[in-house]
Amino acid sequence: MKSIDDLPRLHLGVYPTPLYKLEAISEKYGKNIWIKRDDLCGVALGGNKVRKLEFLLADAKQQGCDTVFTTGGAQSNHAMLTGACAARLGMKCYLLLKKRGVTEHLGNQVLNSIYGAEVRFIDTDSYDDIYAEMHRMGVELAKEGHKSYYIPCGGSNALGAIGYAAGVRELAQQAEEIGLKIDHITSATGSGGTTAGLLLGAKMFLPGVKALGLGVDDDPFDEIVSELAQEAAGMLDFPLARTPDDFRMVYNLGAGYAIPNAEDTPYIEEMARMEGILLDPVYTGKAWSGLLKLVKDGYFDGEKNIVFFHTGGAAALFAMDLG
Ligand SMILES: *Cc1c(COP(=O)(O)O)cnc(C)c1O
Repeated sequence: MKSIDDLPRLHLGVYPTPLYKLEAISEKYGKNIWIKRDDLCGVALGGNKVRKLEFLLADAKQQGCDTVFTTGGAQSNHAMLTGACAARLGMKCYLLLKKRGVTEHLGNQVLNSIYGAEVRFIDTDSYDDIYAEMHRMGVELAKEGHKSYYIPCGGSNALGAIGYAAGVRELAQQAEEIGLKIDHITSATGSGGTTAGLLLGAKMFLPGVKALGLGVDDDPFDEIVSELAQEAAGMLDFPLARTPDDFRMVYNLGAGYAIPNAEDTPYIEEMARMEGILLDPVYTGKAWSGLLKLVKDGYFDGEKNIVFFHTGGAAALFAMDLG
């Protein structure tokens, strides 16, 4: 078996991120809910993509790339954070974004400009079209002597997922230091890499702990997450069952991906007012409201300590209204 530390990694974020119990919320809902503040990871407005990018961009550097491409929706947090991290590394960053959703100069689009990332909107519903365009541009740039690195939507490939297995290792160390016995770890699921990393990380560093993905897009994440976790485990020669137990997906999609849902708004406001924490209407607000519904329905009965990974996303608050 290989160690995660055998893989090249850059230090882009400020880790470990804080872990603490949400005292007021835990009291109200009668369950210990802990938060892992990956929204405070120190790059831009924070977010989960930085853990992935520490591995992905290290790989890019090791391959001698000077240019990075990625994609996402118009308000992609992943694209923005890729632009932010690439800028620090002196790499040119092209963001080929779907011309869907909020394309105005709001939210993450403002940050993309500040970080100097070059945005192109592509009028398509298919990421395959975008990947084809990326490679076409990469071939052109190669003629000028540039070497390109291509990061998929959400940074969700096996290497990106390993970033989250490393995040669970960090969580396991923190839990041990304070004598916390975790029962369940959860996060929003948008492209699958984070949840795949939680699943693999739990098997590696928190055996017996369950992983729960809270789906905010309508892709078949049971398969996507299991497959990504499998592939990431393969990179580390870690034996992971093909259909892992202790993993489940629950969806709280509302009307669709990136469409704010009015039912989530009271929970977003409650979290802000009771704990001072901002959630966003696309990912964390939906995941959080989905999680609290499960708590109320008794999904975690018999369990004591639940950890919610706060995956960031605050820029969306400045691009769209809550539902
Ligand atoms: C991308 C993102 C997620 C989802 O993570 P995936 O690894 O894509 O599933 C959750 N929350 C926020 C704020 C994100 O930007």
